[in-house]
Amino acid sequence: MTLRPRVLIVDDDPANRHLLEQMLGDEYEILLAGDGEQALELCLREAPDLLLLDIEMPGLDGLQTCRRLKANPATASIPVIFVTSHDSPASEAAGLAAGAIDFIRKPIRYEAVRARVARHLQLKAQADRLRAMAYEDALTGVLNRRYFDQLLHFEGRVARRTCQPLSLVLIDIDRFKSCNDLHGHTYGDHCLRAVAAALGAALRRPQDLLARYGGEEFACLLPGTARDEALRTAEYLRREVEAAAIAHPHTPAQVLTVSLGVATLVPGERDTIEALVEKADWRLYEAKSLGRNRVCG
Ligand SMILES: [Mg+2]
Repeated sequence: MTLRPRVLIVDDDPANRHLLEQMLGDEYEILLAGDGEQALELCLREAPDLLLLDIEMPGLDGLQTCRRLKANPATASIPVIFVTSHDSPASEAAGLAAGAIDFIRKPIRYEAVRARVARHLQLKAQADRLRAMAYEDALTGVLNRRYFDQLLHFEGRVARRTCQPLSLVLIDIDRFKSCNDLHGHTYGDHCLRAVAAALGAALRRPQDLLARYGGEEFACLLPGTARDEALRTAEYLRREVEAAAIAHPHTPAQVLTVSLGVATLVPGERDTIEALVEKADWRLYEAKSLGRNRVCG
């Protein structure tokens, strides 16, 4: 496991990629991409800390690649430094408008690259710490409600545009109040953290999102996931929480369990995000009234 910052070098010219890798490889973990599409894919999968992005590339050029990165909340915070041989005010303005943070001119000089990369990685680390405070639920470390609501609306628009299904699972801890009353809030906090950890570990795809939705309620958003698959995932989440065996004296099995409600936004139908949340909430209520520790969808 390395803790070195990760720099993604994107250039269609292998010689340029090699040169930048030589200049930075001793200090940073280097990822390489030969075109814009590959860069976008690597950003989603590997979450690099910084991009060195060639502007002039065949296919998706640097400006288009940068705009796409900035339009997706999952990659928008990755700083982009353009590497360019065009030294005009117009191309600089276009780069800044696309969302770049800085420029490196070709021919590439060692000192300029090292200084700029180090400086922007330092700023990125500071911004990450602030973002974590703003986006995370302090107790459990999963996403907070406010940020989740933003992502929910974003994923709703993506689902509609790409004609993909989008599933939402609302999860509520069974008889949490009696657990809190009996063992105190410190134990309640422990339970919330343990449930969040079990749910987080059970989600395997990087695009799946987990948030604390309310007091003892969690929400899980599954992009590109149809109803049947979402029901299977929900059932897996239910079993994993049960298997975590968090002690709870007021349940039949003496361990903490969860009830889950599943709803899916189907491509072609005109359901709103609000209706999706309402449906999942109603099914969660159904799971509770049918005896808890179950999935309804
Ligand atoms: Mg090029």
